[in-house]
Amino acid sequence: MLILVTNDDGVHSAGLRVLSQALSRLGEIVVIAPDRNRSAVGHALTLDRPLRAEEIKPQVFAVDGTPTDCVNLGVHGLLQKRPDLVVSGINRGSNVGDDISYSGTVCAALEATLMGLPAFAVSLDTDHFSEKDLDLAAFFAKCLAEKISIEGLPKETFLNVNIPSGRCEGVQLTRQGRRRYEETVVSKQDPRGRCYYWLGGSNVGFEDIPGSDCSVLQQGFISVTPLQTNMTNENSYPEMEDWSFSGMTGAN
Ligand code: MN
Repeated sequence: MLILVTNDDGVHSAGLRVLSQALSRLGEIVVIAPDRNRSAVGHALTLDRPLRAEEIKPQVFAVDGTPTDCVNLGVHGLLQKRPDLVVSGINRGSNVGDDISYSGTVCAALEATLMGLPAFAVSLDTDHFSEKDLDLAAFFAKCLAEKISIEGLPKETFLNVNIPSGRCEGVQLTRQGRRRYEETVVSKQDPRGRCYYWLGGSNVGFEDIPGSDCSVLQQGFISVTPLQTNMTNENSYPEMEDWSFSGMTGAN
């Protein structure tokens, strides 16, 4: 089994190292990851300049691009054959609720799924990695990779996995929840007298929706959320079916 490992915290992240070590028991590992921290770049693709990939160790490539670039470059350039699995993480900090569209970690798995490859993302609910937490996250990722290699994943589906910090009560299959933010923009003056802005949404918790990734993680469970690539909201049709668009094209 050939496994492509990536992340958004950068190729030197401890989470990536521990993850690829654990997965190496299952087969051949190739790491293709950003050369620096590219957290919160979402699904961005670099199209306005060339990309460089430096092999910093055997089978470990540092790319001056985004996680989505890394998956693309891996599948269409660096790898000798298509990987059997793409795993992204272990991210420093959870990726739950409304956060996941910002997440480079999650979007690397999304990109792999768009290419028809089985994939999952793993994030750890702490800013301070402890060895015990990392070991649990890596062990669970290894077990999940094994399971996926046997069962396969549903069509156009990838998994978003979040690991609690400190204690673990078990594993639950969850739904994407909702995080609450207090949107704050800090505006200050630079030494030249010009204004600058710093986006700083402070986290004020989550909506306690039973069975959601946020709630389950908070209760100390590992959260496994199946996500899909198609964003169409099927539930919206009853409300929108009767919308008339006549007269909106400029034609009589
Ligand atoms: Mn990150």
